Amino acid sequence: MPKSTLFNLDSHTPDWQKQLSDAITDPLELLKLLRLSPEDFPACEQASKPFALKLPRSYINKIEPGNPDDPLLKQVMASAAELEISPTYTQDPVGDMKAMPVPGLLHKYQGRVLLITTGACAIHCRYCFRRHFPYSENHSSKQQWKDTLGYIQQHSDINEVILSGGDPLVLSNNKLEQLIEGLSAIPHVNTLRIHSRIPVILPARITDSLASILTKSRLKTVVVIHANHPAEITELEQHALQNLHQAGILLLNQSVLLKGVNDCSVILSGLSHKLFACNTLPYYLHILDKVQGAQHFEVPRQKAIQLMKELRHKLPGYLVPELVEEKAAEKSKLPVYGL
Ligand SMILES: *Cc1c(COP(=O)(O)O)cnc(C)c1O
Ligand code: SF4
Repeated sequence: MPKSTLFNLDSHTPDWQKQLSDAITDPLELLKLLRLSPEDFPACEQASKPFALKLPRSYINKIEPGNPDDPLLKQVMASAAELEISPTYTQDPVGDMKAMPVPGLLHKYQGRVLLITTGACAIHCRYCFRRHFPYSENHSSKQQWKDTLGYIQQHSDINEVILSGGDPLVLSNNKLEQLIEGLSAIPHVNTLRIHSRIPVILPARITDSLASILTKSRLKTVVVIHANHPAEITELEQHALQNLHQAGILLLNQSVLLKGVNDCSVILSGLSHKLFACNTLPYYLHILDKVQGAQHFEVPRQKAIQLMKELRHKLPGYLVPELVEEKAAEKSKLPVYGL
């Protein structure tokens, strides 16, 4: 069976909200759909209890059936390795809880604030640094927007507001529109940045009306997507990115360097080329944050530096992402150099 027929999304594509509520959350169901044996994934049910499994069906279409080592499957499948405790891996590795002057607002870097607009995502990435984040108390819910906007209003050095999460594009058009209106009414804010994995996870969300909401204010709009592997981008995602590009949005990509997923210069350079074909430039390649349960994704630092050297040989400079890591209390992401 060719993988594109696993779910036929072309002839009758349900709307994005329906696709979200239809997401797969049961590890055994996922294995069955992919014709994989539970024996290859011991403790997957147990591992999905503290952080649920979640992926939309359109993502399953991009996973190769019968391949337990598929790089897309690795990103979403709960595994026994998550239950191991490593002393250097913590619950809040980047110090987010200490950088919140208003619930859901992170002001760590000069000129930029990041808003945790929702705890929800369209997919649960097993390596996510926010997997332990207490979202219910700490997202900038609609009731708190007044405080959030007030804080930004009072800090005239803030010129860029980043909508993050979770994934800000799970918010309804209505909410996004109101939030963007509120931000654009603050004179010193000039850039709206959206950090979202949705263009490559739930491309049906990228409608014309969304593109128009993101671009109709006076703010300059940047969308930073999150793709880790070229197989995540098929025609559907390419189309979604095209839609955003045509609306005049600058598109960038951030990836996380993940063992067994993209720790290979052929895969990373393939990703850069594919992004470029979608008018999206590589931005950051993140060293994995040391979040408990993700230690099996760690790529040794020397290997990461070697990969960057290979990438610089293979790619034009503008397609080489910057290798960075995030440390609590630092004033920016830190570039990782070497060799
Ligand atoms: C990553 C991050 C930003 C944005 O950093 P850039 O280097 O501008 O991409 C802003 N605020 C917080 C809290 C961040 O984690
Ligand atoms: S989409 Fe982003 S925030 Fe959500 S689980 Fe994945 S990495 Fe984490």
